[in-house]
Amino acid sequence: MDSQDTTLREIGSGRLPQERRVVTDIPGPNSRALAERRKSAVAQGVGSVLPVQVTDADGGVIVDADGNSLIDFGSGIAVTNVGNANPRVVERVKAQVERFTHTCFMVAPYESYVAVCERLNRITPGDHEKRSILVNSGAEAVENAVKIARYATGRQAVVVLDHGYHGRTLLTMTLTAKNMPYKHGFGPYAPEVYRMPLAYPYRWPTGPDGCGPEAAAQAIDQITKQIGAENLAAVLVEPIQGEGGFIEPAPGFLPALAEFCRTSGALFIADEVQTGFARTGDLFACEHEGVVPDLIATAKGIAGGLPLAAVTGRAEIMDAVHAGGLGGTYGGNPLACEAALAVLEEIEEHDLAGRARGIGAVMLPRLRALAERLPAIGDVRGRGAMIAIELVRPGTKDPDPALTAEVARRCHARGLLVLTAGTYGNVLRFLPPLVIPGHLLEEGLDILEEALSHP
Ligand SMILES: *Cc1c(COP(=O)(O)O)cnc(C)c1O
Repeated sequence: MDSQDTTLREIGSGRLPQERRVVTDIPGPNSRALAERRKSAVAQGVGSVLPVQVTDADGGVIVDADGNSLIDFGSGIAVTNVGNANPRVVERVKAQVERFTHTCFMVAPYESYVAVCERLNRITPGDHEKRSILVNSGAEAVENAVKIARYATGRQAVVVLDHGYHGRTLLTMTLTAKNMPYKHGFGPYAPEVYRMPLAYPYRWPTGPDGCGPEAAAQAIDQITKQIGAENLAAVLVEPIQGEGGFIEPAPGFLPALAEFCRTSGALFIADEVQTGFARTGDLFACEHEGVVPDLIATAKGIAGGLPLAAVTGRAEIMDAVHAGGLGGTYGGNPLACEAALAVLEEIEEHDLAGRARGIGAVMLPRLRALAERLPAIGDVRGRGAMIAIELVRPGTKDPDPALTAEVARRCHARGLLVLTAGTYGNVLRFLPPLVIPGHLLEEGLDILEEALSHP
């Protein structure tokens, strides 16, 4: 990892020591005081994975109010791919905040919005002519992609997949598969959304071989029978599922669905909100199987944590919508656009996609070796710096969410921030910042191994 450490030194700020430091219980007394205070101020429907009080963060560490320095395997859910408070992001945002903070692009436009769209049009898969719009969140991007697809096709039905996650607004919650905690009690849901099977290799009834084409055939058969291809506006997929548990659809599945869309006059929409911007070792995860989406929704990693999201797609589809049909007050805020331009420069200049592949090359072999020893690890999967393990009762594929929560707790107590995921709550997922130093990555894996092996 020496060469990767060199990369980090070039692009990290060097402001905080890149070290794990546990000096109190986690959460410590100051963090616990904040957790107490929030109870009477913040609605309890908003949870926190690790209830610390963050005071600082840089590169691969998060520092709390008790002086603990945690190794970050979460990146704020795949957002701070270029590291927290990345110096280039900070510099550009600072310069912009002193010029102007908002005019509303729909009222009086500015250059950075156009520049972000130009960059997105250039770097997203496919060399066709493209257009983009900027919005504020992943959910808003997905929702706009569906609006645009319905408008451009004149059709209504939208197909999504089992285990999919697309957001928390009414439409995107409807598009999301999992009831608890995302949908429970929040209905009724939006109409014309249909859910199809996913090529989930670990849990496919006949095993992983042939899973991709088989699952695609089932999905296409159901779409044809239940909806009618002529009524289908779009198929919406995550090229690697995020909240669903980092499920990589089996090879052949996504290309078959994309081809079915092409021959049916429907649109193939990639939700790359979590997988985009070098996270999986490609700039966009669709590239792995050479799939070119008609529309692509992006957010999370796009602007280093400033709220920004986008829909990018074929010019004739994007331009179909009447003037004034798309937009929003804050969409493409100038601070967020400056941050995005900095992020895109960082990704390109420092080959962060290569760096993500390097992280995967460290993590996957270690986790696979661990899975050989520990029968509770049922599956190891993911690409680049988007890696997960699925925990099961030994000798079965029965999900073990209790063990998963316990292992996460043990990691947190030892100063490693990990996230859980999965329809069955039995997936530990790892999303280190792409600039994490090699020694922290190895140390994080040591802690994980300890937490899995010994209570
Ligand atoms: C996080 C996420 C969303 C929703 O993004 P928000 O910014 O939280 O609205 C949508 N799709 C995927 C795949 C996500 O991971």
